[in-house]
Amino acid sequence: MVEGGPSLSNQRKKDTLEERMSDLKGQNDKAIQGKQEKKVNWMSQTGNWVELLDFIKFLNTNQLNIKLTCHFDTNSVDFLDITIKRDNFGMLQTDLFRKKTAVNSVLHASSSHPKHVINAIPIGQFLRLRRVCSSFEDFKMRAEEMKKRFLDRGTNNLIFSTSKPQKEVKTRFITEYHSHWELMREILSKHWSILTSDPVLKQYVPERPCVTARRARNLKDHLTKSFYPVNDQSLLFPSLVSKPIEKWGCAPCGNCVACPNIDCATSFVGSDSKPYKITQTITCNTKAVIYHATCPCSKIYVGLTTRPLKLRVREHVRDIRAAEKGETVEHLKTLPRHFKIHHGCDPTGLRVIGIDRIITDLRGGSVSRRLAQKESRWIWTLRTLQPLGLNEALNYSSFL
Ligand SMILES: [Zn+2]
Ligand SMILES: [Zn+2]
Repeated sequence: MVEGGPSLSNQRKKDTLEERMSDLKGQNDKAIQGKQEKKVNWMSQTGNWVELLDFIKFLNTNQLNIKLTCHFDTNSVDFLDITIKRDNFGMLQTDLFRKKTAVNSVLHASSSHPKHVINAIPIGQFLRLRRVCSSFEDFKMRAEEMKKRFLDRGTNNLIFSTSKPQKEVKTRFITEYHSHWELMREILSKHWSILTSDPVLKQYVPERPCVTARRARNLKDHLTKSFYPVNDQSLLFPSLVSKPIEKWGCAPCGNCVACPNIDCATSFVGSDSKPYKITQTITCNTKAVIYHATCPCSKIYVGLTTRPLKLRVREHVRDIRAAEKGETVEHLKTLPRHFKIHHGCDPTGLRVIGIDRIITDLRGGSVSRRLAQKESRWIWTLRTLQPLGLNEALNYSSFL
């Protein structure tokens, strides 16, 4: 932070001081009437410790009644309400940090806030303290200080001395909160005696249950939804898929004409026989997919589709079949040409696995571009360019 680098010349120091002091003066004409301490964060400073202290001393010789302090430490740092420090064993420890100028701002016990709010504040504050202090000794010390602050603000001493016994777990009647919730609770209390006359209910709920409200759906729940909904595996893989597959992978839907060409897989291999795991859930109906197609001689073609995978697979099958009729191979696309030359235009040897996908969300963005980028990456990773694979070229335009 401060070691190394060129030191500030006196002239530069003077300029910096004048610039910053004039800034402070402009902003704080009223505030600097009395003696004030200003906290200024020096964002960038070069030089060593001695020069830094010298610089602070120089800044403090001003006529503006502004005093600057500087704190530096190689073993601890104060951040918000925490002091993070290094102990003798090199481990990080945390402790509560309070500014020297901090005042006792605890809510006064005589405040008009609801009683339960005033009583709950100490509990919340001591819990926070326990989380902040990593050592129990620090916690005990800080807790004593905090207790004193609470007592100064009129908090009843009994709150600290009594430890509430844990309540017995009663039967809870949990329901979603709504405007009639209080009313319902009253009805339950009022007429509980009637309900206890039911011998079966009495057996299971001997005492009046504790009525607890669960959060109701709020505006946020109604107006927004997750961009990444959890896929329901039972919907994606109906019973026709006999082999149970892992959470992620590719599987035929079992209900479309493309299914015979789509494999059930959780991994796939590149031209170098290196295995890769599928980290998405892909079926015939998944849109925006990168797929991996192999022919009977195990050459790999990597392609993309923004439409459902089944449509693209059907197109490939149709093109391979159609290639049989044509005489020449020059005008044919890569896959049909290969199948015409080497595999007698038999599309049954075409095996397809969906290997990656783009999850489309409400934010939009160019799905085609993102897909094209993924496709290029996979072609490169799996080494599927000719002659090892069947892809003819690598398209870099999607990255531009
Ligand atoms: Zn299918
Ligand atoms: Zn082949």
